[in-house]
Amino acid sequence: MRHSGTKHNNHHGDGRPDDAERVARRDEAVRSAVEQGLLGPDTPLVGLLDVVGIRDSAAALRAAFEAVVAPGTAVLHAFAVKAAPLVPVLRLLREAGIGAEVASPGELALAGAAGVEPGRTVLDSPAKTAQELREALALGIAVNADNPQELERIDTLIRETTTSSPLGMRVNPQVGAGAIDALSTATATSKFGVALRDEGAREWLIRAYAERPWLTRLHAHSGSQGVPLSLMARGIAECYALAEEINRRTGRRQIDTIDIGGGLPVNFTSDATTPTYAQYARLLAEAVPGLFDGRYGLVTEFGRSLLAKHGSVVARVEYAKRAGGRAVAITHAGVQVATRTVYAPGAWPLRIAAYDAEGHPKEGPVVAQDVAGPACFAGDLLAVAHPLPLLEPGDHVAALDTGAYYFAHHYAYNSLARPGVYGYAPGADGGTRFAVVRDPQTVEEIVAESGGGRVGALTEL
Ligand SMILES: *Cc1c(COP(=O)(O)O)cnc(C)c1O
Repeated sequence: MRHSGTKHNNHHGDGRPDDAERVARRDEAVRSAVEQGLLGPDTPLVGLLDVVGIRDSAAALRAAFEAVVAPGTAVLHAFAVKAAPLVPVLRLLREAGIGAEVASPGELALAGAAGVEPGRTVLDSPAKTAQELREALALGIAVNADNPQELERIDTLIRETTTSSPLGMRVNPQVGAGAIDALSTATATSKFGVALRDEGAREWLIRAYAERPWLTRLHAHSGSQGVPLSLMARGIAECYALAEEINRRTGRRQIDTIDIGGGLPVNFTSDATTPTYAQYARLLAEAVPGLFDGRYGLVTEFGRSLLAKHGSVVARVEYAKRAGGRAVAITHAGVQVATRTVYAPGAWPLRIAAYDAEGHPKEGPVVAQDVAGPACFAGDLLAVAHPLPLLEPGDHVAALDTGAYYFAHHYAYNSLARPGVYGYAPGADGGTRFAVVRDPQTVEEIVAESGGGRVGALTEL
């Protein structure tokens, strides 16, 4: 390790050795990316993923629930693919004992390409077509039905075929919103699942299970970012209470598995990993003790908390200017890689770290600066009046904690190219080894994907 990384203004850990080591690996990776030419004048934007960190988080997730469930409990941790839809990432997680939660034909195909077994895959989308359901049942993938109409489709399908798919219903416990409306799945009017407190809903669900002995799971996802842990635990408590009631009323242990969803929030304000999986698992064990006593198998669906802190968008500073007395760094990272931050900066602020032209953490007096992206609209800003050492052309900025829902979700504004994504791990000599996760998109690919092969399509119509 070259240095601890903790002495830089915008790089602190909170004293936990894992967090400090992650910062040190990140600093070393930025330096090596510049040295090895992954990042340079002609490739001014990359996404970087910390392989050691991802493995550590997967291990922490497994250990946290192993510590609270009764011995022998069947547990499947299914990574929410939407958080990082990259095949090598899904493969890395698979090798670390994590399955996949998918919500579209594309995500299902990515999980399959990564070798995630159907028995370790869960399908959850709110808009599954008949064909998607047929395919999932043929493969034996677990399906959580979103609503009564979808359940009727499944009724029809299972009359036609036999399936090994575990099947369940998604409920919305309607426990309320967190700080970010767009990510609050358990409001009174959320579009997801059967709204449990609506008139007649509970009785409908109990009858639906009583009439269908093959419905053996119950699912709730009361996330995500911005929802306090206590509210998430209340949602899961409601789901558990319903499972108990269904099993009592049907007179059999019909529901054998509870899927608690994901949604553990991520700390975007420092390098500290908080809250931890262990804290959440202990909180659930206290709030819903029967959930872990061995009578129910468990499925989880974490996304953001597994990946966010292990990814960085690193961009070169092309120009540094002043406007209205404000320093403005024009970089290559903007709305195309940080869409949520640019359009909803209040909900999704990002930390920015400054590096010099060689990729060393930049030192010097801190100045309030705007960190701007390359897109042609005024709001394309990663950060406004952000305190950083004064950036100069050829320096680099890193948008931190962007491993989930950021650079893997390219937004093609201005036909800006998808950046390359590279995984990194420490090398034998103290340097960093990289592996290509996703090749950078070429300009030729942009033309081809934009109808380049159909140039006369409209003029010849
Ligand atoms: C998005 C989603 C998740 C993952 O949420 P995170 O906040 O990324 O952990 C899990 N389950 C379902 C059904 C989702 O829609």
